[in-house]
Amino acid sequence: MSAIQRYARTEPWDDGVATARKSHAATTALTTILQTYGRTLRLSEAGQSVALVERDRIASGVTGRTTAKITSLHGLRYDYLADRFGLDVARLYAEANEAAIDDIESTVDEYDVDCGFERMPAYTYVDSADEVDDVRAEAQTASHLDLPASVVDASSIPFEGESAVRFDDRAVFHLRAYLFELADRFASGSESYLFERTTVTDVDEGTPCTVSTDRGSIQADDVVVATHFPVVDKGVYFARMKPKRSYILAVRVAKNPPDGMYYRRGDPTFSVRPVPEVDRLVLVGGQGHRTGDGGSTTERYRRLERQARSEFDVEDVKRYDRQLREMIVEGRAEPGFIVSHVEPLEKAPEMYERFDEREEGVTKVLLKP
Ligand SMILES: Cc1cc2nc3c(=O)[nH]c(=O)nc-3n(C[C@H](O)[C@H](O)[C@H](O)COP(=O)(O)OP(=O)(O)OC[C@H]3O[C@@H](n4cnc5c(N)ncnc54)[C@H](O)[C@@H]3O)c2cc1C
Repeated sequence: MSAIQRYARTEPWDDGVATARKSHAATTALTTILQTYGRTLRLSEAGQSVALVERDRIASGVTGRTTAKITSLHGLRYDYLADRFGLDVARLYAEANEAAIDDIESTVDEYDVDCGFERMPAYTYVDSADEVDDVRAEAQTASHLDLPASVVDASSIPFEGESAVRFDDRAVFHLRAYLFELADRFASGSESYLFERTTVTDVDEGTPCTVSTDRGSIQADDVVVATHFPVVDKGVYFARMKPKRSYILAVRVAKNPPDGMYYRRGDPTFSVRPVPEVDRLVLVGGQGHRTGDGGSTTERYRRLERQARSEFDVEDVKRYDRQLREMIVEGRAEPGFIVSHVEPLEKAPEMYERFDEREEGVTKVLLKP
């Protein structure tokens, strides 16, 4: 699989109008986007004509940058939902999230998607004795909703924590691998269209509905708009939205990566998940803030790294600039010109010496093992 894929399905635009029985303009919430892709694929396989429209590239939004935990344990949520909206609403939330996990797993199985899907427990832990009662209440309400919840004490938490709620059998996976596989299959269907770099500008309800884009229009019986930020915003929801930002680092730990995914409630939050298919690799996340209020990005990453080092024996931190990487992959940036020499590894001592002596023209040496 190539790192970045293009789906240039331009045929139906010849007369400026494409027709589709279902039309999706991206999606919402990680589990929903994944379900949407799975369902979209199934619809097209069932003979429906489906168009999926994406302003940028598949998985270029926040979905391509998450920790990719698939869990129905989200902080301490159930007791709050039950208290505020009643048990029926809390149950709906639980059932929707449980269904999403199962749906993704069955899609992985059905299409044999190689994406490191693995079941493991999820924990929300607290590090203050004052919050232990909240943990107990959460586990109790969750159990009442038939969720696989239990309380874990400090001795079983691999971090500085007082207590945790544990949900069994949650999952992690490689989200981009999953999406690209589904997108590949979807785009190869004769009646399905995946339009990247195409922006939806309007949706007119009608029979059929018309989806206007900057490249033409699509007519469809049904339209699902799921762009995270509303783009067809009749309820003026944008005014109530609060963009937030948070950060993830991949770190290699010296030993014993955690055997489950963890989330610490509080300020700052701390999120941890192992990457089972890569030796001792762990994703750590946190340092969230309102967009624009967070100060220096570098400082945020530094703080996250310090947090990771305080919890793990970190061997190294994997860092790269995704934007730069994608520019290189797409050929828009060519940093190769700064390499003055490409030499075999045996020549390392000589080349180090020449570089050290600042020999004319020896500016950047690449050693090939
Ligand atoms: C650091 C971090 C870690 C996270 N970890 C997890 C986790 O472990 N588990 C979890 O469940 N959630 C996690 N989340 C939350 C999760 O990533 C998001 O809720 C989810 O990815 C949102 O998906 P989305 O499809 O709504 O948005 P996006 O992925 O942003 O997709 C929206 C898409 O709509 C497209 N679009 C926008 N406007 C238009 C238009 N006019 N026309 C066409 N296309 C358009 C965009 O280009 C974009 O691709 C995390 C979030 C962050 C920031």
